[in-house]
Amino acid sequence: MAIIRDGMPPFDLFRPTSVDDALALAGRFGADAWILAGGFDSLERFKDRLKRPKAVIDLGGIGELRGVRRDGGDLVIGAMTTLAEVSRHPDICERFGLLAEAAAAVASPQIRNQGTLGGNIAQDTRCWYYRGGWTCYRAGGGTCFAGESPQGQNREHAIFGAEGCVAVNPSDTAPALVALEARLVIENHKGGREIAAEDFFVGPDKDITRLNILAPGELLTAIRLPATWSGATFYFEKVSDRPVWDFSLVNIATAMRLRKDRIEQVRLVLGAVAARPWRLSEVEAAIMGCDRNAAAEAAPRLAAKGAAVLPHNGYKAVLAANLAKRALLGNKDA
Ligand SMILES: Cc1cc2nc3c(=O)[nH]c(=O)nc-3n(C[C@H](O)[C@H](O)[C@H](O)COP(=O)(O)OP(=O)(O)OC[C@H]3O[C@@H](n4cnc5c(N)ncnc54)[C@H](O)[C@@H]3O)c2cc1C
Ligand code: SF4
Repeated sequence: MAIIRDGMPPFDLFRPTSVDDALALAGRFGADAWILAGGFDSLERFKDRLKRPKAVIDLGGIGELRGVRRDGGDLVIGAMTTLAEVSRHPDICERFGLLAEAAAAVASPQIRNQGTLGGNIAQDTRCWYYRGGWTCYRAGGGTCFAGESPQGQNREHAIFGAEGCVAVNPSDTAPALVALEARLVIENHKGGREIAAEDFFVGPDKDITRLNILAPGELLTAIRLPATWSGATFYFEKVSDRPVWDFSLVNIATAMRLRKDRIEQVRLVLGAVAARPWRLSEVEAAIMGCDRNAAAEAAPRLAAKGAAVLPHNGYKAVLAANLAKRALLGNKDA
């Protein structure tokens, strides 16, 4: 368990100024390296002495990882672009307002000014047992304190897709990127690949020790928004205990193409209910071609279907159902 919260263990700090140099360092140190972006997730874990990397690679000096550019019909966002920039960039606001809204919902202005889009989607879970240094399954131990202990505190934990671990992915922007069919650019010193945002995140059924597919030596360099959902009808809503500076209890990101009120295309994605953004595929299939009002009546039952609630988080299934309805109506008061 973590008991020291006042100082970081020593490490070698590298401050590359190009992606090539960062990739070379990441390749050289592999699993001994830690990638540092805005530091909001990273520094806390160093101070708690739960992560003791030999080398820290600070991406803060790499200009090519920052900013938003157009590439044909796509928008390409550098991984080190701050959440504040994402929330107010004119092209993102005009064409992909869903992401701008999700970024604006993260934490507080101070955190958004320094926290990055790449760091936000690559951040680790906030399960308090794990963050507190308890040796649970995710930390390589033999139990899940939140889900298996009769005293487990699981109010903020998963209702979907939990196998062994009931931790959730805390990112507000991740569900929006999945709804927008974003593509993530991942590079190492040998080359790069692009994958769908949906395939970036992993649940405990695939790997209980991490929330995404990034391997040692790899960097997330950019987030690409294809024109597919540009200018669509969007809905984002976050429910949290406090209106600011608080993680989601549940959130929803939705993209729709409507002809009059008929749904021609739709993607609905819940956040903070599973270890990865949770796509409501069954709802999407059932409401395709329907009038949005009729869809909103049908969706709540399907949205909560299969929820495996824990002793303290049954409210999340109710929230998921109601958020699906509101998203389809586009009405936060519904
Ligand atoms: C008090 C508080 C409240 C918060 N509230 C919210 C909230 O409401 N909603 C929300 O979504 N988040 C919230 N967060 C999380 C915060 O937004 C994220 O921790 C932050 O966005 C992480 O981004 P960062 O740039 O600080 O990344 P860092 O902390 O530097 O990195 C986070 C993780 O991502 C990895 N990483 C970062 N960039 C890259 C890259 N380019 N390639 C490969 N790996 C990378 C790092 O190695 C690390 O594991 C909160 C955090 C705090 C401290
Ligand atoms: S929910 Fe996951 S991270 Fe939390 S105690 Fe259980 S195994 Fe560990």
